Amino acid sequence: MTRVLSVTSECAPMVKTGGLADVAGALPAALMPQGVEMRTLLPGYPAVLDALDAARTEAGTDLMGGPARLLSGQAFGLDLLVLDAPHLFERPGNPYLGPDGRDWPDNPERFAALCRAAADIAAGQMEDWRPDLVHCHDWQAGLAPYYLKRDGTPVPSVLTIHNIAFQGLTDMNRAAQLGIAPHDLTPEGVEYFGRISALKAGLVFADRLTTVSPTYAEELMTPEFGMGLDGVLRARKACLSGILNGIDLETWSPGTDPHIRAYKAPRGKAANRAALREEMGLPGAEGPLCVVVSRLTEQKGLDLLLEALPALLDRDGQLALLGSGDPGLEAAFRNYGHRNVAVRIGYDEALSHRMMAGGDAIVVPSRFEPCGLTQLYGLRYGTVPLVALTGGLADTVIPATPATMARQVATGLQFHPVTAGALSNALTRLCDLFQSPAMWSKMQRNAMAQPVDWGPSAAAYAALYATLATTA
Ligand code: ADP
Repeated sequence: MTRVLSVTSECAPMVKTGGLADVAGALPAALMPQGVEMRTLLPGYPAVLDALDAARTEAGTDLMGGPARLLSGQAFGLDLLVLDAPHLFERPGNPYLGPDGRDWPDNPERFAALCRAAADIAAGQMEDWRPDLVHCHDWQAGLAPYYLKRDGTPVPSVLTIHNIAFQGLTDMNRAAQLGIAPHDLTPEGVEYFGRISALKAGLVFADRLTTVSPTYAEELMTPEFGMGLDGVLRARKACLSGILNGIDLETWSPGTDPHIRAYKAPRGKAANRAALREEMGLPGAEGPLCVVVSRLTEQKGLDLLLEALPALLDRDGQLALLGSGDPGLEAAFRNYGHRNVAVRIGYDEALSHRMMAGGDAIVVPSRFEPCGLTQLYGLRYGTVPLVALTGGLADTVIPATPATMARQVATGLQFHPVTAGALSNALTRLCDLFQSPAMWSKMQRNAMAQPVDWGPSAAAYAALYATLATTA
């Protein structure tokens, strides 16, 4: 067995703000058959400590000005290591934001502490378990590869970029507090335009870099998508690869999903659609019922959907949206004021399943999308994805074109460029296809048959670990 320490700031089902949590929660079980024993290091948020069963104290120390304990235990079938540091993590709600909706001012220190704990575990802090390799996720785990290298700990690390928009920036004057040596505050080190970037620390010091789709891996090396880090990534091109996310079929399978009226074939969606219409207060309609489950941010391109909506509504199509985020977008959707548009502002896991089961199509018009999970859920549930041609959306949907329709392999629709005009045209095409029942149901069946499980990607991670692990 290869022992891997996964370092993450969120993990489903205990704490989740986005796709990272799903991935961190699913990887250990997906990797087990590949001969990988993964333990997950998480901050001791209240929701994590509450879930932890039979916790054992592994170590105690002082971190960032307060006492910290390393606990080990199980929760939801996961082997967890938890950094219990109340002065850093005993805060309810969103893991990153205070009640005012702003980042906690001490986020750099909070997640540096998590990285310090990871490096200490790798150095042999626990009596009976030491990883062969550390797998870090996003900027919150970015300093771990740096600490490993600077400590001289001979344990390799992998950093996975789930979203390069979040870079863990902080001022140089916090370097000492974060344990960063003055000689590393350079462009070759962790400096980023006069500040410190925890993500860049990971990009520079990890032994291998991955991101969550092959197309996003290519995009990241361009100025358009690299968000100022494209040069760093180009320099490390040989170490960078894209491994697609899968989805957890235990949670996301229409045949067994406890949140819905379970179904195995597309026709089973009708009862779910009727129930969703009723729940959302939507009338019956001739056109497709489109759903969106998303953070409402610039990235997700939902302002484009607002502009393009008439193309759907003119054909008696409908929109049911579940999301939260940017107050301006929330208000714009809430106040749209059309009988065929229903909006729920908030975060609701169970409703997200009912939306997937009841929708005819799922719309994902992201400006950039490292992988995207909701289009994968859509495929699995026969909810035809209409997606922007970018990142993982490009890699996971087989677009309806004359050629793919002739070969009967299409699983969804793609549009490009990512503009309201192109999205309008795509919505019109969606409505046309929806009016051809034979073609539509073929597309649904293709979608449901497309493999979206973790199998191939787990094998790819295991192969990557195998090239790095010191002992196996
Ligand atoms: P990102 O990580 O950029 O937010 P992904 O598509 O990778 O986007 O993952 C988003 C995850 O969060 C999915 O599991 C999606 O179902 C879930 N999600 C997003 N918004 C909501 C919401 N309002 N209610 C329930 N689940 C949501």
